[in-house]
Amino acid sequence: MRDLRRAARHNAVFVVLICLSVPVTVVTGWVTWSVSSRLFIDEVVTRSQALLAVQAATLERQLDKFRLLPPLLAQRPDVRELVLTRDRSAGERVAAIAAGMAGAQEVAFYDPAGHLIASSHMLPRAAGLMPARDTTALPLEEALQGRLGRAYRPGSRSLPGSYVFASATRGAQGSSGAVVVWVSLGEVEQAWALSKAPLVAVDGEGQVVATNRPAWRGQRLSDQVERLGAVTVALAETDSEAGTDAAALPGVFDLVGLPQEGPDRSFLRMTRQLPLLGWQVIAFADTTAARSQAFKATAIAVLACLLFSGIGWVALERRQAGLRRMREDRLSALRLERRVRQRTRDLSEANTRLASEVREREAAEEELRRMQADLVQAAKMATLGQMSAALSHEFNQPLAAIRSNADNAKQFLDLGRLEKATAGLDKIIVMVERMAEISRILKGFSRRAGTRLGPIAVKPVIDEALMLLSPRLKQTGARLEVRHLDGPIQVIGGHVRLEQVVLNLAANALDAVEGQADGAVHLRTYVDGDFGVIEVADNGPGVADELLSQVFDPFFTTKDVGKGLGLGLSIAYKIVHDFSGALAIGRGETGGAVFTVRLPRADRASEAAA
Ligand code: ADP
Repeated sequence: MRDLRRAARHNAVFVVLICLSVPVTVVTGWVTWSVSSRLFIDEVVTRSQALLAVQAATLERQLDKFRLLPPLLAQRPDVRELVLTRDRSAGERVAAIAAGMAGAQEVAFYDPAGHLIASSHMLPRAAGLMPARDTTALPLEEALQGRLGRAYRPGSRSLPGSYVFASATRGAQGSSGAVVVWVSLGEVEQAWALSKAPLVAVDGEGQVVATNRPAWRGQRLSDQVERLGAVTVALAETDSEAGTDAAALPGVFDLVGLPQEGPDRSFLRMTRQLPLLGWQVIAFADTTAARSQAFKATAIAVLACLLFSGIGWVALERRQAGLRRMREDRLSALRLERRVRQRTRDLSEANTRLASEVREREAAEEELRRMQADLVQAAKMATLGQMSAALSHEFNQPLAAIRSNADNAKQFLDLGRLEKATAGLDKIIVMVERMAEISRILKGFSRRAGTRLGPIAVKPVIDEALMLLSPRLKQTGARLEVRHLDGPIQVIGGHVRLEQVVLNLAANALDAVEGQADGAVHLRTYVDGDFGVIEVADNGPGVADELLSQVFDPFFTTKDVGKGLGLGLSIAYKIVHDFSGALAIGRGETGGAVFTVRLPRADRASEAAA
């Protein structure tokens, strides 16, 4: 649902963007078109105005140059003379010189009746080198009336038109004749031909009198022009005195088509009046280039608008995508956070569970340890129980001896035999001391063993164990041999527990050789690398191979009920293991059992720790 709302909002943003960009593009295109076309047209108009001014001046100057030539010639006495005398040959000569020097098309002299006296072109014309000049409609009338005669003589398609000036020669009875000068408009047309824009000069009737388009010569201009409309342009009016632009004035120009120039082109028609001649010079400024430039500018503006819209579109799209990505990132971060929280909760629960399991396990281990300690204690008590008969004998015998020695000592005292009495008392003291020693060892052995480990001397442990076993040794009559091969050894362990191990192994050995005539038990201690070794060997029957794997199992016994519990070896195994040592069984040379206890040496362990 939220996604749908978001998509709708996203679409609405893009619709707004389109709704904005389309009118902005249209308005920009329209403004650019109108401003640029106005600017370019202004430029065209300014250029064409200048051209028109120059070209109109060219025409005016050309005609001005010859305006004074007929009056000047008419003043000359020789001209007056030849006109009066109608001297043709003198006339031809003067006319030819004047025409040649002034650059006029033709100079001629006429009598008042309008008959040609002489012309600069007489000879070539007579020889058929020049066409006969039409002498009709010459402005002789005005000249004979004393004014400057002016007339335009039309040309043909191939020949430019001419302008004719005429002035009267004065005689005794008024005008004696006239000087006529033809000026060709060809030179003007040649100058105009350099400009690409169509240029025409039209007379009062709209007839083309000079142009840089020879086909229009002699035609009516209105036949060549097709009006399309009007264009208003701000014109810079030039202040001629200051030579600077004084103001911008609006000018209205006809927009026309010139079929002869091509169907798609349009021109601005610019006119300049030549009041003296009664003519107009017209320039047609081509607007095609200006329009195409304006079109290009508009196209660039529209494209720029579209480009900016596109960039805006892309930027918006990117922003939307960025926002989308940010939202998704935030969402996935939240999801991740939730998962992490859940996982943390699970973990802490698992931790709590584990901690309680550890606690339970520790409690169970503690319980086990307690039970094992109880078991060890029970086994110890059982061993003591087994030895109790021998032990009580061990106490009863000295007690009886003490008793008889005491009686004897008393009698010796009564008899006054002091030295005998003292000897008896000394024996009593020795026996009491021995009983006290056995009692001390018994007390220590029956004490509940701790769990602490530390360096202990092996020899005292063995001595005490053997002391406890001495009654049984006597009973069995076996031979005991104890050898400390490497001197005193210190191992890591507990005194009472190691004593129990030695006691169990030695007791088993005595059991094994019991009843044997040459029964012997060998107890050796020695050093093997980092270990101290206690070896208990006997020459009994040994353990059968098939039973070897079971002897360390709890409650495994081959002894009669009441004699063995099957705990001695398993407890010894456990104790040695607790001391980080090893208890192993083997077979001796005589076939008897050999038990080896390997314990870490205390001096080596402290060296390693250091
Ligand atoms: P118990 O002595 O009460 O039987 P132990 O665990 O001390 O229990 O011994 C288990 C068994 O291992 C004995 O019953 C005996 O068969 C065998 N055993 C132990 N020591 C020797 C030995 N030195 N020679 C032969 N057999 C032995």
